[in-house]
Amino acid sequence: MKPDLHPMYRLLNVECACGNKFETRGSRNENPWKVEICNACHPFFTGQQKLLDTAGRVDKFRKKYQKFATK
Ligand SMILES: [Zn+2]
Repeated sequence: MKPDLHPMYRLLNVECACGNKFETRGSRNENPWKVEICNACHPFFTGQQKLLDTAGRVDKFRKKYQKFATK
């Protein structure tokens, strides 16, 4: 199969563990895309430019953050 013009970006329904639902563009295959944290339930990320960008960072951030949170 050949990719479409912009296969990287499609509209995704994102469902966050906090209950927030929103739409974003992304290259994920999951739809809905379930996330555990979003800009609505994580103040650190509010005001950041891109939802897609933050989602990528959140995962890294969470791993770091969990170390601090568990102790
Ligand atoms: Zn959330």
